[in-house]
Amino acid sequence: MDKHRKYIIAGNWKMNKTSGESVELADAVIKEIGDQASVDVVLCPPFTSIAAVSSVVEGSPVKLGAQNIHPASSGAYTGEVSAEMLRYFYPTYVILGHSERRKYFNETDAFINEKVLAAFAGNLKPILCVGETLEERESGKTLEVVDTQIRGCLVDVSEKDAENLVVAYEPVWAIGTGKTATPQIAQEVHDSIRHILSDLFGQEAAQRIRIQYGGSMKPDNARDLLSQTDIDGGLIGGAALNAKSFTDIVNAAVSLDSEE
Ligand code: PEP
Repeated sequence: MDKHRKYIIAGNWKMNKTSGESVELADAVIKEIGDQASVDVVLCPPFTSIAAVSSVVEGSPVKLGAQNIHPASSGAYTGEVSAEMLRYFYPTYVILGHSERRKYFNETDAFINEKVLAAFAGNLKPILCVGETLEERESGKTLEVVDTQIRGCLVDVSEKDAENLVVAYEPVWAIGTGKTATPQIAQEVHDSIRHILSDLFGQEAAQRIRIQYGGSMKPDNARDLLSQTDIDGGLIGGAALNAKSFTDIVNAAVSLDSEE
């Protein structure tokens, strides 16, 4: 198996961990994975831990990610944080369009699109989350929903920027529920996502864009999911809050990579 794409395993800590706990977790992850660089490993702590985790990952192969940005660079947006403000902590990635933000904060594709453009302008690589609800899946709308989300969130993105994009397919019904999409179901959607990306940015660029799976990925299902042709990594919620389960997933990717 040769995918030509580097696996990317990212931990989305959501609204968890104080800054002291974040330092402990980041430290433990770094100790466990050592200096391996065959797989990209990303930690996305809450904003209150960004500065602390930034110091911990400095000099290690682990990259820092944020969980959100506002599209403006500064201004009267109480409670928000911009790419400009984050850059002092050297983040590499930012999660955008997570289903929790779509659901609880009413984020639309158009607004997420503004954030995606702001991320590129601020030298951040977006991890763009898309995925259908259970109702949408059961009514046969999965591919239509994912197509609308991807096209709506990527308006005006250039082919050059697209190569720094990561897409995360996260079926909403699998997030935090313990229900995982089967590797076949996930692969089918990932394949469709790559076709949409090819339509938008050309085949070559689409072959380079990494597509993560997210939704109850755990050490015991990671290998089966990651071995699928178009699954290039994982966006991990619950299992990323524990160093052992997160690094077991990283190690599943490292071992698959060494078999390529
Ligand atoms: C997520 O929220 O991005 C996620 C994948 O969560 P979990 O792994 O807990 O399903």
